[in-house]
Amino acid sequence: MSVSLYEDRPLELRRRHFINSYPPFNHARPVEGEEMYRPGELLLYLHIPFCPTICTYCFYKKFGNPTRAAVDIYLQYLKREIELFAAAEASARGPRPLKTIYMGGGTPTVLTAEQFVDLMGAVRTHFDCDGLEEFCCEIMPHAPTADADKLAALKELGVTRISFGVESFDEDLLRRHNRPCSRELYDHTYEMVRDQQFANVNVDMMTGLAGATWDTWTSDVQSLLEWSPPSTTIYKTEVYYNTTMFTGMRAGKNTPALMTDEEEIRHIRYAHDALMRGGYIADTGASLIRGPQYTHMHFRSHFEGCDLKGLGLSAHSSFRGTMHQNASELPAYYAMLDAGRLPIKRSHPLSARDRISQAMVYGLKYLAINRARFIERFGMDMTVLYGPVIKRLVDSGALLLDEEYLRVAPDYYIFVDDVCRQFYLPEYQDMLLPRVERNDVTVSIERRRQATASA
Ligand code: SF4
Repeated sequence: MSVSLYEDRPLELRRRHFINSYPPFNHARPVEGEEMYRPGELLLYLHIPFCPTICTYCFYKKFGNPTRAAVDIYLQYLKREIELFAAAEASARGPRPLKTIYMGGGTPTVLTAEQFVDLMGAVRTHFDCDGLEEFCCEIMPHAPTADADKLAALKELGVTRISFGVESFDEDLLRRHNRPCSRELYDHTYEMVRDQQFANVNVDMMTGLAGATWDTWTSDVQSLLEWSPPSTTIYKTEVYYNTTMFTGMRAGKNTPALMTDEEEIRHIRYAHDALMRGGYIADTGASLIRGPQYTHMHFRSHFEGCDLKGLGLSAHSSFRGTMHQNASELPAYYAMLDAGRLPIKRSHPLSARDRISQAMVYGLKYLAINRARFIERFGMDMTVLYGPVIKRLVDSGALLLDEEYLRVAPDYYIFVDDVCRQFYLPEYQDMLLPRVERNDVTVSIERRRQATASA
């Protein structure tokens, strides 16, 4: 008799709900102390929650147009957190080497070159960075956030991977989403990035922006191919309830022209086909790279189970078998650090079921799971636990199973999050971030209004 933890659920190919954290953080509960450490390499994430302007679709924790003083205060606290965490780590297990650093946000390049040097000085003082395999920094070319001097400073500080937020090359679409960037500025910034010869450069793009058409998208893909970056990641625009786009829609100020899920699928399929023909290979369902050496080491290592410590406002960690999240409001974040505590606000210890299910979800995000490695980690073949769901997905053509690997079928790369969600534990199935239904924007907003009114 086969055993399964999973309900039999139909596979819906809608490209909804991009997965970047599993199990969902909604499940975490408040935490008092800190739980940490096991030996091995460590991945570090540093959150810089400031941006020159706020993009209408953005659901990250960030503040617009910060003063230099506000950034300075934040950096003082971030350095205090680095110090506290390093001390806790050293007293528990002794220092362990950093494998990767990821500086994200927000827009890290709102920092001046001096602020970058100061921050990285603190990291290097407290952590062994000698064996660093990747140091990634996000950039966004609002003048003057990423100029030549700052890019040179990043290179000097050891940055090896730049992640460049482009989203679209179409100036009208950028303006509609409150991104005051021109094509000329993008080209100029990309040229400066190339001049610095970073080992890896990723370009972020977005499908389904409000007002995007087949013409704007095919033109975006052609521009991307002309740049030909080593790596590109293409996200689907989703209108979450904590975005300025949604606030505007609810207030009746604007109803952005959102394409349907079906149109967006046509767009992403076109991009994947064009990029594959242009020499790219799929690294994940969302990322395409020019060769295996351009994989995103930080995320790959995290998804393979390496400990990740996130530092900064609202940062997420997955550490010593527990998921943590830092305080997400500045006063609480500062107060906990003033009290000499790590600013952790909630955590979720991973159960054995969580870990096994997570290995399926994260493994398939990278498109293949090695069956022998799965047996090494969990003591049983994945088909023992997931027999029925794997069989159903293999029968439908979404997965391929052989002696060595369980793989996502190439035609389903663009639906990888839908496929991964089939391996969610039942208790997490409905924990999805509230967002506007593209195919029926009016009903979606009305539902939200009613929910707010009755709350
Ligand atoms: S630049 Fe990035 S973090 Fe900042 S508002 Fe835009 S999407 Fe959000």
